[in-house]
Amino acid sequence: MNYEAVIGLEVHAQLLTTSKIFCGCSASFGQEPNSATCPVCLGLPGALPVLNKRAVDFALKMILAVGGEVGKQSVFARKNYFYPDLPKGYQVSQYDKPIGVGGAISFIDGGIGKSVNLTRIHLEEDAGKSLHPENTSQDYTRVDVNRCGTPLIEIVSEPEIRTPHEAFLYLHSLKQIVEYLGICDGNMEEGSLRCDANVSIRPVGETTLGTKTEVKNLNSIRGVERAITYEIGRQIAVVSSGGKVVQQTLLYNDADGKCYPMRSKEQSHDYRYFPDPDLVTLTVDASWIDRIAASLPELPMARRERFVSVYGIPAYDAEVLTTTSQLADYFEAVVKECADAKLASNWIMTEVLARLKDQHIDVSKFAISSQRLGRLIGKIKSKAVTGKMAKDLFELMLSDSRDLDAIISEKGLAPVTDSGDLEKLIDKIIGDHPDEVARYREGKTKLFAFFVGQLMKATQGKADPETAGALLKARLDR
Ligand SMILES: [Zn+2]
Repeated sequence: MNYEAVIGLEVHAQLLTTSKIFCGCSASFGQEPNSATCPVCLGLPGALPVLNKRAVDFALKMILAVGGEVGKQSVFARKNYFYPDLPKGYQVSQYDKPIGVGGAISFIDGGIGKSVNLTRIHLEEDAGKSLHPENTSQDYTRVDVNRCGTPLIEIVSEPEIRTPHEAFLYLHSLKQIVEYLGICDGNMEEGSLRCDANVSIRPVGETTLGTKTEVKNLNSIRGVERAITYEIGRQIAVVSSGGKVVQQTLLYNDADGKCYPMRSKEQSHDYRYFPDPDLVTLTVDASWIDRIAASLPELPMARRERFVSVYGIPAYDAEVLTTTSQLADYFEAVVKECADAKLASNWIMTEVLARLKDQHIDVSKFAISSQRLGRLIGKIKSKAVTGKMAKDLFELMLSDSRDLDAIISEKGLAPVTDSGDLEKLIDKIIGDHPDEVARYREGKTKLFAFFVGQLMKATQGKADPETAGALLKARLDR
């Protein structure tokens, strides 16, 4: 029997606010454990939460960016459960009246545009973090409550994803959108973007949903793809051998690529949700929505399309160059300087991206500014430097921040364009290779490349190809 998978993703995105969602404590990552806490985020008796307006702004940005509808009146609820890293004993979240409903995330799968609808986007606070010793023989756990009260949005998709690869593309697109909006840094390793996957299978043609499992602990986009692939395979094996899939929560271990049961899955009534009596209903009026709508930047999909139509670069280039808004900004600044979009795209996609990968940095930390790269490309275009020299110069510019012209003159990298110099060298080459000259003149015109090679060798690659080619041809055909 053939099975198809039904996948829904729940993504938690940590909002880039400076303070927490209901108190003034710092929300930044990597602080001394338990240093960023106060009575509110610890849930001490009598402490009262106050909603961070900036967190609401950020949630609204996301809702509008994906075409969702803003709930004019949304309600914060307490989700009751006991975890060692949640001192309050409940998490403030939203339940039946979330701040956003609907919307969709679009992506391109092998040239085909697809889109997955969203159920909801809601605001909530994060819990703390349990720190288990690396050495498993040590039987204690430490708790860091700094993360308690960090603002999150949870983006819940409809179960419309069908393959692990679609899940990968969906997440990639979602990550790009939050980064473009500047509301989340998208760093999955640091936990600012976390994903849980609900996975079930059913025979192809069946319309009812099978029993689902929830895979947690996914900390990379590739990890999500791998975990879902594993879980689909496991469920098919269970069902094919006459067994039944049990509804449960699984933990994915990327080291061995397998999922392990964590606990049986709770139902929402297990959490005993009820409206938080300390927080009033959140009212978002039309002017607030208008203000956020006016602040939205150009989104990845739109930018990609503009790059193709305005700069005339291939769709593939546009996709790579818009991976992050910083890279897209860099590209546009280079084009502004050199006025050649395809050349700029080629240099960024090969030389620049290779260096960024080697150095594990993003383009904002790259040693060669957009203006300097633009000037270098401008020199290639105007034939002030040859392609080979440009590569050498690029290498030098990585560690030498001086003006480009200063580097060129110090390293003697100016091209040989002087016809007199070139003619002398050509004469010598012709004199040294009488046989080749004779064969060329008998019709072996392919030998032209041989002479070009000799001339490049004699000038150490510094001959301007166009001048050199014209002079050589004139001399050989004489
Ligand atoms: Zn606090």
